Amino acid sequence: MKREVLGPAGTAGTRVDPETLRVRSLNAHQLLRGGELEGANQPAHLEGEELERYVHERLVFTTLDSAVAWARSNSFFPLAFGLACCAMEQFQTAGPRMDIARFGYEAFRASPRQADLIILAGRVSIKMAPIIRRLYDQMLEPKWAISMGACCSSMGVFNNYALVPADKFMPIDVHVPGCPPRPEALMHGVLKLREMVQDNPEAGWRERYGAVGTEERP
Ligand code: SF4
Repeated sequence: MKREVLGPAGTAGTRVDPETLRVRSLNAHQLLRGGELEGANQPAHLEGEELERYVHERLVFTTLDSAVAWARSNSFFPLAFGLACCAMEQFQTAGPRMDIARFGYEAFRASPRQADLIILAGRVSIKMAPIIRRLYDQMLEPKWAISMGACCSSMGVFNNYALVPADKFMPIDVHVPGCPPRPEALMHGVLKLREMVQDNPEAGWRERYGAVGTEERP
């Protein structure tokens, strides 16, 4: 721990009279109790710089959209789903070393109806593609997809007639490169997705692909 002398605006370096700090503290307490300010015989209100600081320290403004995007991006419900060797690395993100629960994404769902994130961990065969697409279509809106590993994004080392890249049959939000990507790389991809959802909540795949109006009907 490092001790530093506080300056007037909380900056280090300039000494502030301890008595001033005490008066400020008493003023804040008095204000919260609705009483009168210490050392000034006036009603409990602040002015100028004091008022600015008081408001700055106590209020947070946001929009409903930002709050919803913040909540969504911190509580993805990934589908419990794996395709090939990459899935072994994906499982590790839920283990004690990576601990995906730190970010709020540990609720892997067994049903696509309860999931909003699908991680395609492994190679996709042409036979498997329609099944994955059906799972994706059954997921909750809004939903996101991560392509994990070289196979899923570009058919990887195989590159033969039996495999298909995920982008060919469904929208992918984030690609995680590697063969296999380590759990840290997948976490990096999930956190990139979090940034996307937080900073640009309108940039869902339907908007990006011009597919607004194609939502599944109940
Ligand atoms: S990218 Fe590598 S580890 Fe992942 S599915 Fe393909 S071969 Fe397996």
